[in-house]
Amino acid sequence: MFANRRSLFLLLSVLIFLTDALFVVLNYQSDRQTLNQTLADEGKALHKSYQVALSMTLTNMQQIATFVAGDPRVQTLFEQAVDAVEQEGGGPGGPKAARLRDELYEVVAPGWQKMTAEYQVRQLHFHLGPGSTSFLRVHKPEKFGDNMDDLRHMVVDVNRDRQPRTGLELGRVYAGLRGIVPVFSPASPREPIGALEVGTSYGTLIDSLSQSIGAQVAVLLKEQRVEEATWQRPNESLMTDCGCFIEATSSSSLIELLSLEDESHQPASFEGRTYLVEAESGHYAVSEFAIRDYVGQRDGSADSVGRVVIWWSADDLIAGLEASTWRNVVYGLIGFVLIEVVLFGAMRLTLRGLEGEVVRRTREIHDLNDRLKKIAHHDFLTGVYTRRYLIERLQQECNRASREQTPLTLLMLDIDYFKMINDTYGHPAGDQVLADMGAQLLDNCRDYDLVGRYGGEEFCVVLPGLEVAEAFKVAEALRLRIQRSLALPDKAGKPVTVSIGLAEYDPEQSYQQLIKTADQALYRAKENGRNRSIISEPLVTSG
Ligand code: GH3
Ligand code: MG
Ligand code: MG
Repeated sequence: MFANRRSLFLLLSVLIFLTDALFVVLNYQSDRQTLNQTLADEGKALHKSYQVALSMTLTNMQQIATFVAGDPRVQTLFEQAVDAVEQEGGGPGGPKAARLRDELYEVVAPGWQKMTAEYQVRQLHFHLGPGSTSFLRVHKPEKFGDNMDDLRHMVVDVNRDRQPRTGLELGRVYAGLRGIVPVFSPASPREPIGALEVGTSYGTLIDSLSQSIGAQVAVLLKEQRVEEATWQRPNESLMTDCGCFIEATSSSSLIELLSLEDESHQPASFEGRTYLVEAESGHYAVSEFAIRDYVGQRDGSADSVGRVVIWWSADDLIAGLEASTWRNVVYGLIGFVLIEVVLFGAMRLTLRGLEGEVVRRTREIHDLNDRLKKIAHHDFLTGVYTRRYLIERLQQECNRASREQTPLTLLMLDIDYFKMINDTYGHPAGDQVLADMGAQLLDNCRDYDLVGRYGGEEFCVVLPGLEVAEAFKVAEALRLRIQRSLALPDKAGKPVTVSIGLAEYDPEQSYQQLIKTADQALYRAKENGRNRSIISEPLVTSG
């Protein structure tokens, strides 16, 4: 019972523990999912911020280009210069073109200073069309006359269809965010004479974006694309393990980030993705998305020119997740302990109740058994032992007498003329006489004497420890007592009498022989006139 109880408790405990552990794991997964969702949302918002900042930068460039290209002095000088180059054989042109270049430079130079200081403009570049031939780099006046058809697709397109354009293009020195507008003749504003390009670098955009969003930002370009565009091989220190060129970054922690062997080495998608990385300096959330250059954008190319990486410390997020996980574990453990205590108590109470019930039922069964035994051992009508039980006990007493060498005498009692009582007064009256007879025998015998009903109106009394002579006295006392106490139910009240046969137990005999001998004595008592006691051998009579 105890072992079962322990096994049941252990089994339930294991089940509760597993449920509890599942609860903790599910909670952790849910927290993790929430964290990932938070990261994804934050990443999308930052992507949007980048796009807004980029669009503003490009618009600024285009506005500045429009402003400069709208200056009549610029238009006049540039128109003359276009003619001069044409007359002087194209390309860089000749001396006239050179003079006009200087004059144009003088006109835009003061504005140029302002643009670089206030709007971080890095390029102001006049191009001749069709295609793209450099006429004047205000940012680098000593370099001109080179054909850029393969590099300045934006310029080529503007010179072709006279529509302004903005976008990212990899340049000879750096990647530019450019606004390019057509320059028209001052005489006829519909007559295009060339294009003006205004550009800035990623550095400014990255720094201001980083400050406004409170995260680090970097632009990485594909190494191969950079090599194709630049004059010289790019600065090796800006090349990274992942085959990327660092165009601009707001923090040097980018290097540590890129050195981590994980998701940062996967190609970025245009939709972008956000993930967590663990660096030596802490956890970072990294959001990155691919970018296209002007041509890629124009042609809807699937190929990216590089990617933008935005990263910020995720230590607080991770600490929050860890705290929440610990909280879950602690709550789980407290819950487990509480359930265990309740389970233990409930099982104890239930089992105690059950044990009490078992004890009560067992007692009831014992009582019932006792009653059954009593019913089985006692004659219903007279209250004395049944014949079967009497013989069983007689056998035991004979054995004991023989073992202990003590005397034992058996009395056989038979009511005289009982048939007549039945016939005269009825069967119930006969039953009453039998019941009274039983009561008298029990009342007048010792506790350890055995009184039984041998059959019909015949009774047995076993007197352990008494030799037949003493037993005879007892028999006589019983006979007289019965004679005095039991009366027939008529007016005369004639007494009821019994005849008694006595036999002393001989250890050489069997108990059956003892009964037989007593019975013979009884028979003799009847023969000799009834209402008397007779000892079997030697013959002694009374009455
Ligand atoms: P005797 O003096 O020689 O003993 O004569 P008797 O009439 O007493 O003996 P007998 O053996 O002829 O009759 C016994 C009667 O006892 C017969 C039977 O119907 C009756 N008897 C036996 N058992 C019961 C009982 O339980 N109740 C009643 N009322 N009568 C019983
Ligand atoms: Mg009889
Ligand atoms: Mg009789």
